[in-house]
Amino acid sequence: MLLAPAAAAGSRREGRGAVELHAVELIRLELPLVVSLATSAGEHAVRPIVLVRLITDSGEGYGECEALAEPIYTEEYADGAARVLADHLVPRLLAGGPLEASSPAAAGLERLRPVRGHRMAKAAVEMALLDAWLRGEGRSLADFLGATSRHVPAGATVGIVPTAEVLGRVAAAAAAGYRRVKLKIGPGHDVEPIGAVRAEFPALVLAADANGAYRLDDPGDRRALELIDGLGLAALEQPLAAEDLVGHAELAAALVTPVVLDESVADEQDLQAALALGACVGVSLKAARLGGLLAACRVRDRCLAAGVRMAAGGMLETGLGRAASLALAGCPGFDLPGDLGGSERYFVPDLTPAHRVVDGELAVPDGPGLGVEPRPDVLAATRTGAELIRAPS
Ligand code: MG
Repeated sequence: MLLAPAAAAGSRREGRGAVELHAVELIRLELPLVVSLATSAGEHAVRPIVLVRLITDSGEGYGECEALAEPIYTEEYADGAARVLADHLVPRLLAGGPLEASSPAAAGLERLRPVRGHRMAKAAVEMALLDAWLRGEGRSLADFLGATSRHVPAGATVGIVPTAEVLGRVAAAAAAGYRRVKLKIGPGHDVEPIGAVRAEFPALVLAADANGAYRLDDPGDRRALELIDGLGLAALEQPLAAEDLVGHAELAAALVTPVVLDESVADEQDLQAALALGACVGVSLKAARLGGLLAACRVRDRCLAAGVRMAAGGMLETGLGRAASLALAGCPGFDLPGDLGGSERYFVPDLTPAHRVVDGELAVPDGPGLGVEPRPDVLAATRTGAELIRAPS
């Protein structure tokens, strides 16, 4: 047998104080999205995934790299993340010998620190470390992160399509039980669709996400933002470019609508700068963007301490990454409309058993580790390649 990981918790060599890393398999997948998602930055139709399968002496864990097909959300993209994982991150992780068993994820991340950036790739390694470790401990990720809710409100995101189609998609989401909807917007596709949805579905909690499409030096954009502010949105996400914290501070002061930052906040320092400038009322937390779940928890704690509101963000992730997103979303403080929808909105079948929306809510997985595993049949059907990297002997 190629590798014989000790899968059962009982085979853990207790008391040794270290987790031995045997190998990492990087598995490439491609999953077609049920409905392609158009944003102001581009369209997502197929979801390439890099799965990190970590094989240790105490079991296996999976991590999902959530970098998109193209570098249009952040600089990272799936092919680039696969290379940086194979050439730089996984070799560093495996070269360092056993990991301290009391906090293997933090210890593993520390080995990746010399590599600049590449937060989504690092987050995938961290997720696999946490999954493997917590499975061995018989503990759920939700419990480890401090989740207190067993269910979280689901959110439906509707892409940039003609307004009649926006209305149709919102109606379908509402019929499926969603009570929170986020519209992707951009210049020329904003006041009309938001106003139409507002008029037809007054009870829905409605937010809008511009993915950085507006500019304050454009009079037309300024006027549009003023008009959007009158439409009763629960949140306006990332209206300006990621780098424009000063512009966001001006908007946050001028608008009644809560300004929420997504792309602008890649780490704790960005959050600190945003808070110092008064650039936002809320932040969308995505572990992938922030470099992992441990980093996301630090940002969460700073937000809680500073009274910054939070949304549970999503990255069109599969059921695997969604399980981690749900565990984070189950923590206190997430009161802004989030991105986390049921599997049926993304992938049919999903990579894992489906996350289902019941009464507008999703269950936070409570099994050991991520609480879900890839379905072998979907893994086989969507797999496009794999690379096995062994620890040096
Ligand atoms: Mg966003």
